[in-house]
Order: sequence, then structure tokens, then C-alpha cells
Amino acid sequence: MTTATFPAAAEFHAASGAGQDDARFAAAARPLAAVTGAEIQAPLITGGHARYANLDYGASAPALSLVSAYLNEILPYYASVHRGAGYASQISTSVYENSRDIVRDFVGGRPDDSVIFTRNTTDSLNLLAGCLPLKDGRPAGEVLYLDIEHHANLLPWQNVPHRSVVAAATLEATVDRLREELARGGVSLLAVTGASNVTGEILPVRALASLAHEYGARIVVDAAQLAPHRRINIAADDIDYLAFSGHKLYAPFGAGVLVGRTDWLDAGTPHLAGGGAVRDARLDSVSWTTGPARHEGGSPNVLGAAALARATQVLAELDPAQWYEHEEAIRSYLVEGLERIEGVTVHRIFAGSDNGSIGVVNFSVAGYDAGLVAAYLSAEHGIGLRDGRFCAHPLLKRLGLPAGSLRASFGLGSRLEDAERLLAGLRQLRQAGLGWDYVVDAGRWVPANDTRNYPHWAPNTPGTAGAAPCTLD
Ligand code: PLP
Repeated sequence: MTTATFPAAAEFHAASGAGQDDARFAAAARPLAAVTGAEIQAPLITGGHARYANLDYGASAPALSLVSAYLNEILPYYASVHRGAGYASQISTSVYENSRDIVRDFVGGRPDDSVIFTRNTTDSLNLLAGCLPLKDGRPAGEVLYLDIEHHANLLPWQNVPHRSVVAAATLEATVDRLREELARGGVSLLAVTGASNVTGEILPVRALASLAHEYGARIVVDAAQLAPHRRINIAADDIDYLAFSGHKLYAPFGAGVLVGRTDWLDAGTPHLAGGGAVRDARLDSVSWTTGPARHEGGSPNVLGAAALARATQVLAELDPAQWYEHEEAIRSYLVEGLERIEGVTVHRIFAGSDNGSIGVVNFSVAGYDAGLVAAYLSAEHGIGLRDGRFCAHPLLKRLGLPAGSLRASFGLGSRLEDAERLLAGLRQLRQAGLGWDYVVDAGRWVPANDTRNYPHWAPNTPGTAGAAPCTLD
């Protein structure tokens, strides 16, 4: 196996004229935590292999090695939850229930907050949409949201009375627009993302919570992107509901969570009708239980919940200053580097964003489809990132990117070299063009005549026969 080599940082800086001061980025020289798959070798279309540079944490982050080790430890005890008197069942039940407390602690939850395990953020927000207080059988108030939201925090609200607001050019003006809308009255819930999955910009959730409360509404924060990158304290920030996903939080084992005030949840429509969600069931009627079980019908995902809880413990042990410094070093290095490449544009929602950004950078390359650039970076450089519209179609349209853009995202397992390689790959694209032919297959750009070997257990790898069609989501 040959391994492609990449210019060392100094060489890269000299070649690019970037002149970036290494000391500013030293915090990102190494990963902050061990993750699985960190040394995967990706086969290159041009021959040889390269260490897979995972710049797609925002879609799904790799598992923390500690999470994976923990799962191996508890797996032998895996058994039914809430349904057995056996030793393993008791242990599994204890792990599952204990996971609620761990997650509640992680988000600074109030002692009486519900912690409901779901599949993911989408599931959590759909659950909450079924729990809005009713009047005459209809939700009593409206849900208010911005046009920058991920579809998970947009589509569930389209099924209930709702109002949307187009974000303004600055964060400050956007908050003013929300205030105006709240002041008109009738809003029961403000649904807002903690950080944009498109650009990484962080929303001022504490200020928004107090604004919502000022006008008698509650707030739900979609923390799918925020929770893996920033400490959150819902009691201190007075956030009513918080939703996030394990697979973006280094625990890719199928669990998500909704944490928040119990009253709405205990009165709401049971999210999954089935075993465990009832006090008593008759042939044609039912008495639903309260508490998390009301919404967790069926056998729960104990390993997913345990993995999610373990990941939160690992994050809670990080030194926040070191954590944020690591991520910000990669982010600023990348943004500065991208801005120096002719034809590359970095996209933001808010001018002069002053509330910080998580490890997500959005950009496009003039003259190239985003999907083609992503295919090139993967095939010729072993770099994984996301292209498309990021399940945020209204925002992409408003930003003038109806065909999509590119998103590099990173986290605990990332290192500066990942960003260096992305910049080097883009610079090469601008200077020398593509090094291979690419075609559109099943809606996605792929290298032509791709004869690379993939593991036998992944037979439908894109570019090989039978690949599933993809959309530009
Ligand atoms: N909200 C945001 C901000 C996201 O980035 C995502 C996923 O990308 C979601 C919600 C949906 O998360 P999931 O697919 O885990 O339900």
C-alpha cells in the first residue's frame, strides 16, 4: 500500500503564501480525544491511499473510543429493559435509567425535567410537536421559528399552528424581529437552533429564552449541533426543552434525547403507542402512563442510551477552555485559508457574527458544482465532507445557493492537518483542475471508471454498481 504524502504545514504555508502564524494554531496540532476510525486509509482514485480526513462531524461524528470500550463492557449484560427479573435485565434496566440522570446532569437539567430517549433530534422535535397544549382539540398557541432552521426544526411545526420569521442581516436585528413577532401575541413555543448546521454560527439561546418567556412562550433549542461543541446549562439559561442526537455527539448507536419540562410532556400525545407506555390497556381503549415511558413505547434502545450517556460524561470531563481552543484553532485556520484561495467564498448567515461559531465552515468554489468538489476531495485526497443543501432548503435559497454548497465540520478527533489537507486540495483544484474524470451517477458526482477496492461488506459503495440514489439534501 502506498500512502500519498501531503505538504508539511511550513511547506504548505510557504507554497500558499498564507503566512499563517503556527503558534496561533498550535492547540489543534493533535486530536483532543481518541475516536474510532481515526487511522482509516481511504483508497485514492489516482492510486495509493491516504489517511481518511473526516471533515464531516456535523453530519455524524465518529464514536469516542471510550464510548466504544464502554459498550463492549456492558454488551454481555444486554437484556430486556423494564421487562424482566433476571440479573442481566436488572443491570440493563439500571444502565438505561441511570443514563437519564447522566444526560440530565450533562445539560444542567432541573431535577423534575423529563429525559426522554428517542431515535434522534428529528424524533425528539416531532415528539414535542405532539405535546403542545391544546384548546378545543387544537394547539392553543403558535410555534415561531426562523428560516435558518434544519428541516428537523421546521417540518414538525408545519403540522401545527405556526409562524416563521426570515432572519435579518445581523443577529441583533434577527432577535429584534423575533421580539416583534412575539409581541404580536399568540406564540406558545419559540423553536430555535442552538447553532446553525449550515454555517456553525451560534444563536444567543439564553437571551432568546428570556425573550420567549417575557411574552409568555416557551423555548425549545435544537441542540443537534450545539451540544457536541459547547457546554449547555438549561436551568441556568432557562431553556424549557432541549433536543439532540447521539450520533452527532460521538455516540452513533441510534439514540437521541429530549429533555425538558414535564407538564406538556405528561399531557401530550404518546409518541409511540405500544408496550410500556400504558397503565392499563383494554381491547378498544387505553389509559396512558406519564413520565418518559409515555413516549417510549416498545423495547428501548438501551445500548444507544448508554452510549449517549457515556459520551456526555466524556464531554463533561473536558476542560472547556482547551476544548473550545482546539476547535477554534482549526476553524480560524480553515476560514483564513479558504478566504485566501481565489474563487472560494465562505458563507455566513449573519454579518459580523459576534456570538461565536462551532466547528462548521461553509463555502463554495466558483465554477464547480459543490458535489463535484466533494467527489474530487474524496477520490483524489481522501477527504470526507458534506455537500448539498444540508436539510435547510429555505436558508440555502435565501443565501443564493439553491444548488447547495460545501461544509467542512470537525470536532474532538480532528487535527490541523485535516484542515491543511482540505486547503491544499482546493488550491490544487484551482491551480491544476481535476485530476480525474467525474460523472453523475444516481444523482451524485462520482469518479468515472472507479475500480478501487471496497470492503466486501460494503458492496453498494457510491460509484459501484447498485448505489442507492441520493438527493441533494
Ligand atoms: N438539527 C440540526 C441543527 C441538525 O444539524 C440536524 C442534523 O443534521 C438535525 C437537527 C437532525 O438530526 P437527526 O438527523 O439526528 O435527527
